[in-house]
Amino acid sequence: MSLQQNPAIVLQVKDHGDSDKIVTMYTREHGKIVLIAKGAKRSKKRFVNKLELFSLLLIHFSPSRHSSLMRLDQADLLAPFPALRGNYELYIAASLLCELVLHWTREHDSDEELFRLLLWALEGLSVTGGGVNRTIIFFHVKMLDILGYRPDLTGCLDCHALGVPRVVYRFSPLRNGLVCSRCEPNATGSSQPLSIQTIQLLRRVQDMEQGKLERLHFSPAATREAIALLKRYDAHLLQREVQSWNFLD
Ligand SMILES: [Zn+2]
Repeated sequence: MSLQQNPAIVLQVKDHGDSDKIVTMYTREHGKIVLIAKGAKRSKKRFVNKLELFSLLLIHFSPSRHSSLMRLDQADLLAPFPALRGNYELYIAASLLCELVLHWTREHDSDEELFRLLLWALEGLSVTGGGVNRTIIFFHVKMLDILGYRPDLTGCLDCHALGVPRVVYRFSPLRNGLVCSRCEPNATGSSQPLSIQTIQLLRRVQDMEQGKLERLHFSPAATREAIALLKRYDAHLLQREVQSWNFLD
């Protein structure tokens, strides 16, 4: 008998031996968990069309007697989000969101807010399809907030000023905030110049409710800068590459 049941989003699926699959999911009440789906590869009956990337499932699971993995006993499909697997751009975007959750979270470290954010972003991509980069930026900024890694964009970390004419502001992943060209004239290679427009846009995202995202306009230049910043921040803090960034146009 299953010990637990929980809504869960499929983050990663891998074949395991001849007949099983190893599935990593982000659950509402247990955070990230890794499960073994016995016989999922050979007999498709039990998990037919269910263990697909990005799907929202209601899963029934229990500790496995033979390994540290949880055993997936049953999965009911709540939302399959087929659009995310049928369009290359949406697939890459959804993959990136799932990869971020995969790398930024620890197993069994639950966070209902992050679960809701991920679900909101996948639903948004699936329904509207548009504003892919905007959804990615919004998701990433909010995820950093939830996990306690909010970059300080209120002003230069040393002089606290922002928007001084002819002064360049750079984001330093090392210091998790902005430094200006007056305080640090010899910028290091790891810091990235940001326009005031991009800084202000990112600050608005930090303070904005999810439902109001539509109101924000991201220019192509601000989108490029914001994406580059988030990518750099990931590489610095995770100390590994988030592969989906490389496929994002
Ligand atoms: Zn300064």
